[in-house]
Amino acid sequence: MAKKVTPLMKQYNTIKAKYPDALLLFRVGDFYETFGEDAVRAAKILNITLTARNNGGDHIELAGFPHHSLHTYLPKLVMAGCRVAICDQLEDPKQTKTIVKRGVTELVTPGVSLNDDILSSKSNNFLAAIHFGSKKIGVSFLDISTGEFLASEGSAEYIDKLLQNFNPSEVLFSKQKRKLFSETFGDQFHVFHLEDWVFQKDYSEENLLKHFEVTTLKGFGVGHFEEGIIAAGAALHYLGETQHNKLNHITKISRIAEDAYVWMDRFTIRNLELYYSNQQNAVTLLDIIDKTISPMGGRMLKRWMALPLKNVEEITRRHHVVQYFLEHALVLEKIKTSTKRIGDLERLISKVATGKINPREVIQLKNSLEAILPIKGEISKATNESLQVLGEKLNECETLRNKIKQTLQEEAPVNILKGNTIAAGFNEELDELRAISKGGKEYLDKMLERETERTGISSLKIASNNVFGYYIEVRNTHKDKVPQEWIRKQTLVSAERYITEELKEYEAKILGAEEKITTLEQEIFAALVEWMLQFIGIVQQNASGIAEIDCLASFATHATEANYTRPIFDETTDLHIQEGRHPVIEKQLPPDAPFIANDVFLDRENQQIIMITGPNMSGKSAILRQTALIVLLAQMGSFVPAKEVRMGVVDKIFTRVGASDNISMGESTFMVEMNETASILNNISERSLVLLDEIGRGTSTYDGISIAWAISEFLHEHPSRAKVLFATHYHEINEMTETFNRIKNYNVSVKELKDDVLFLRKLVPGGSHHSFGIHVAKMAGMPQAVLHRANKILKRLEKSHSSEELSDKMKDIAKDEMQLSFFKLDDPLLEELRDEIIDIDIDTLTPVEALMKLNEIKRML
Ligand code: ADP
Repeated sequence: MAKKVTPLMKQYNTIKAKYPDALLLFRVGDFYETFGEDAVRAAKILNITLTARNNGGDHIELAGFPHHSLHTYLPKLVMAGCRVAICDQLEDPKQTKTIVKRGVTELVTPGVSLNDDILSSKSNNFLAAIHFGSKKIGVSFLDISTGEFLASEGSAEYIDKLLQNFNPSEVLFSKQKRKLFSETFGDQFHVFHLEDWVFQKDYSEENLLKHFEVTTLKGFGVGHFEEGIIAAGAALHYLGETQHNKLNHITKISRIAEDAYVWMDRFTIRNLELYYSNQQNAVTLLDIIDKTISPMGGRMLKRWMALPLKNVEEITRRHHVVQYFLEHALVLEKIKTSTKRIGDLERLISKVATGKINPREVIQLKNSLEAILPIKGEISKATNESLQVLGEKLNECETLRNKIKQTLQEEAPVNILKGNTIAAGFNEELDELRAISKGGKEYLDKMLERETERTGISSLKIASNNVFGYYIEVRNTHKDKVPQEWIRKQTLVSAERYITEELKEYEAKILGAEEKITTLEQEIFAALVEWMLQFIGIVQQNASGIAEIDCLASFATHATEANYTRPIFDETTDLHIQEGRHPVIEKQLPPDAPFIANDVFLDRENQQIIMITGPNMSGKSAILRQTALIVLLAQMGSFVPAKEVRMGVVDKIFTRVGASDNISMGESTFMVEMNETASILNNISERSLVLLDEIGRGTSTYDGISIAWAISEFLHEHPSRAKVLFATHYHEINEMTETFNRIKNYNVSVKELKDDVLFLRKLVPGGSHHSFGIHVAKMAGMPQAVLHRANKILKRLEKSHSSEELSDKMKDIAKDEMQLSFFKLDDPLLEELRDEIIDIDIDTLTPVEALMKLNEIKRML
């Protein structure tokens, strides 16, 4: 028997075929239904009942929810990573005899959402697109809810860092690059694959030029990006594919300039727990310092943290403003009070562009713009140049505000169909219609009075019902007094109902008025929103100005609350921190355990590398991290948790932690890590800060010590003389100072009690004298030269049998000529080896290639 498919399922199948990768919400009457695999998935995510239906012999699963619950269920689906196609009824079911026309009206995906239930106000919701070029990788980030659009390109490592920073909700790339993507960037993202042709240069560029209505992209500063532009074009393409065509708010594309910001690799971003943490409920740096008030400010602060500045002038400009706020507490208070009245300008104006704004939000937009006035006023009075520059960015938007005020009622509803949206006096016709609809009762009362008098019938009544409309009712006792021209409509037991000419006209007018009011209000509102499109750019500029002021006010507020000081930048490469504190830990200690502040001084001449020894839990990591966090805060433009900080600008911060859970890592992860560490050591400059925490927590003590030793030696001999903090519990490493004059020993002091140690947490000069316990962990990966050297040291150490012997051996090694002199090798074999290593392009090396290379080098020895 042939299977019979109902017309409804036929329609469903046709639509579903167009959106094979999406979960299709199919509107049937008052429900959104899902079928088949979609139903299984939806039922699981939403915890709704899964039923089954026999459809012409075919068994099909089914799960649905009432249409008005869409706003609770949609976010859940999207957050679970679904792309959701919303299929609505495109005509009124009452108007059609055949099956209702249906079509997909919106495709909501994790990275493309305008829905307030899905978006979080203090975070961007970025869609990323990645294009793998032959040499570089292009990337773009687009937030359709705010209109921000950014592009960049570079090495896999750099793009990886950006992906960590921007934390996109969805990542797009070519179908053919699936394997490459997960090899390069891992599997933690919601991804979607596009056809390969989308990533054609001509197509992408054309797409962008058309969107921005320009002939070249040079004006945006992205003209030279080959791969970045392709990625940007792909992101824009995807918006079209997801039925998002009103994109007037995407007014520009900006370049993420690699060289403008402090470089931090993915490891550093994670390790410092800047804005997210691997541990649940852990407090991040952002949690501690974020005192922003507006959503735009919150989002900008996060961006500033991801991209700390390198330009001292720009940094100083921020510090200037913070200082001004601290010296003018009243100004700061006033600005904060006004900022509280500002809504999410950025997202409100985006809704204007996408046509999704409701009347109440337009009023909110107006009120937000109004709240900018006192801020601009305060700033224009300020004697601070940097602040004035910011003030000039703010536009009063008088025309826009006035027009909204004239057009809309202050108490306009969310839903325009509720009525009373348009202000009285704005439109004459509307006023008249409203008078009719409102004045109806009065008019009828007057008519009743008139007719009673004329006819002498004392018990006349005017009323209406659904069937006959308006009528005049006359009790049977007065029937004979009814005027001739009245037309009888209905006879009841004790009364007759009549209609008059006047009543008929009145009825038409009243009913028409209500309907016309709704239509007219909708028309006027639509025209207003359309008219507002011209202000998108200006409002966006206001939003970014307010965001910046909000961030700086946040810095000032936190500086007061947490007792921060202004860092001083100079031309040197020194880092001088006096009484520095860890911004997060100091907030978490119980009141009876005060945070112990510590000094850290690093320079390229005398104290380039600080070896910090001390037992576990003594506070070594805290010192390392607080040093990085202080540098980072300073370069974000914030004040810092220290008594005094003087520093030259830092260009890169590297962190490596020899985590004990590396043991569970597979071989390939080990190789990736090895690559990463190698690139750290190859990319350092004289302005870099390197933090190594328990590197060398190896499988054996000898391994650990050897690797720690070799790395330190490498960093000491490296011409950059980058500043290094090295935390280790291998006190044997202290021997290094005998030979390497820029390495200095410090220890985090402890007081030994009878069976216990008391942590004093003070960093003091000098090494530790004995080990407090050795931890077993697997090393994370090193450059060849370091490994090579580590191996040789190891071989010698392994021959020792007691710790005294070992210690002596270490002294010998330090003195002997076996030192790693990476840059002045004279053995021809080593010469060749060096060339081989130097020729390796770490940025493009895949883990497998690295393994092969390693093998090759091994064979040379
Ligand atoms: P280590 O790296 O030596 O194992 P940590 O730096 O992880 O030790 O510090 C262990 C704990 O000690 C931290 O979680 C923190 O609670 C506390 N701590 C560290 N430094 C300080 C300090 N300077 N003042 C007060 N408490 C501290």
